[in-house]
Amino acid sequence: MMIALALVGAAIVLGVVSVMLLRRSGVRGRIVASDSVVSRPSRALRSPRHGIVGKPDYLVEERGRIAPVELKPSRESNSPWLRDVVQLAAYCLLLEETEPRFAGYGYLRYANRTFRIDFTDRVRGELLRTIANMRADLTAADVPPNHHDPRRCARCMLVRVCGRAVVSGS
Ligand code: SF4
Repeated sequence: MMIALALVGAAIVLGVVSVMLLRRSGVRGRIVASDSVVSRPSRALRSPRHGIVGKPDYLVEERGRIAPVELKPSRESNSPWLRDVVQLAAYCLLLEETEPRFAGYGYLRYANRTFRIDFTDRVRGELLRTIANMRADLTAADVPPNHHDPRRCARCMLVRVCGRAVVSGS
């Protein structure tokens, strides 16, 4: 009983903290879905047409329109990283196909600032190219690594078997 109460308490605190972070980001919309206790639970969004599934950190409602929010609380940058834009674009595509009130944009929240990313034709094209490249990689005989970052390898579940890990000290 005590453990259950402690877990509920922790969930409420985490929910409140995450909402405070979101509010400090400048995103003013009402939170309509998230993995915290402050809203209805998020559900995975699916696109059979594009063969992708995803779940944004938050969905917010602004002036009756629904936008996804992706939090990267440990990232600091004055411009959005391309891979984060592509991730957010995937949520935009999923919302476009499943939510009639999709706003046409989403938010990327970094530790130091927030970016509104419009789901433009250019962003959509980048996403569709990425999906096509990933699909091609799935059936390719060999896919060389595209980085030399030991930290990524150190966190990768394939580090013991991929044979190309660039881990410091290895
Ligand atoms: S361990 Fe291998 S698969 Fe994993 S990130 Fe490093 S190079 Fe890529």
